[in-house]
Amino acid sequence: MHLLDSGFRIIISLKISSIDIFPLSIPLKGSFRNARLAKTCQESIVLKVHTDEGTEGVGNVDPDPGYSEESFSEILAAIRQLAQNVIGIDPLNILAALDRMDRIFPGKLDAKAAIEMALFDLKGKVLGVPVHSLLGGYLREEITLNGWIGMLSPDEAAREAVSWLEGGFRSAKIKVGSGVGPDRDRVQAVREAVGKKMVLRVDANEAYTVDDAIRLGRAITPFDVSLFEQPVQRRDLAGMAKVRKAVEIPIMADESIVGPQTLIEVIKKEAAGIVKVKVMKQGGIHRTVQMIETAEAAGISCVIGHGFGLAIDTLAEIHVAASCRNVLEGCEFVGPLKMEGDVVKKPLWMEGGKVKVPHDPGLGSEIDEEKIRKWSLDQEKR
Ligand SMILES: [Mg+2]
Repeated sequence: MHLLDSGFRIIISLKISSIDIFPLSIPLKGSFRNARLAKTCQESIVLKVHTDEGTEGVGNVDPDPGYSEESFSEILAAIRQLAQNVIGIDPLNILAALDRMDRIFPGKLDAKAAIEMALFDLKGKVLGVPVHSLLGGYLREEITLNGWIGMLSPDEAAREAVSWLEGGFRSAKIKVGSGVGPDRDRVQAVREAVGKKMVLRVDANEAYTVDDAIRLGRAITPFDVSLFEQPVQRRDLAGMAKVRKAVEIPIMADESIVGPQTLIEVIKKEAAGIVKVKVMKQGGIHRTVQMIETAEAAGISCVIGHGFGLAIDTLAEIHVAASCRNVLEGCEFVGPLKMEGDVVKKPLWMEGGKVKVPHDPGLGSEIDEEKIRKWSLDQEKR
């Protein structure tokens, strides 16, 4: 694999030989409800890219029904089709792999993210460097995390917030979308329970009309909310801009932000002051970094992190967060804390509301084959 040519350059020649794809279902600890759905398990896709030299890299995406632009089975089908089309290519040339995948399908960002993530992992492992090193380096050793509170009753939400606070978290997101009155009461109960010790965010997951979003935004302004996420439908950027003008709380776009063009639209329409990015939603590590930098140039801050998911996807976002200046404290990739199980040999160290940036080669983890078998979806569902 490593050959020295006459000029003592190291030449690495590899080809993708096969890709294993594992659809999985892993139960959550308890259940979760937001404005869109209630769920008790996470269906995820893990994949392993093999090369002709026996090296391998792993990737993983954690689709969210209604949130993701495509369904779980559409993403799975796209991964299978893209996988066939990257066999034989150089896994270290990630830009060429992305270009080939773009020529096959124009969108399918979630599927491309899974494959591209595995290529980053593989490249890091081949070169013996962490993924953040492939991105130019890292700016922080530890990353602070943000807790999540579902659409619970005010008392339950307050208890949940206190448990995140006791766990060392200094920020949390409260899901809203059950009506202006109940949402206001939930936010008030949480603020009263945690005092000034936590930064609080709210996320409506597109649940509100423009008028009701403005009513809610004004009703919760006294409770010192740091951002109001995706108040209205993802395509209604004019409506979101209207909410932004009418409400003092900064507005964050999440579902509205998919490919780079959507970010440009949000910037042009002045629809949000903060944007939410995820490696899965943006189509991979490379594009997520590009979009964070584009947002920075427009004076827009970013929040990063998928809410439910496995350690591999989480690690990809940790590396991006470590490498990008324009990522706010309180990253939202706390999926592994909410899952009953995972697929990696060594669980992520997530304690005291923080996670350490890994410096092992690649993403920094290895797949446990037994765990893959344990959580595998039934054959007939594949
Ligand atoms: Mg969101």
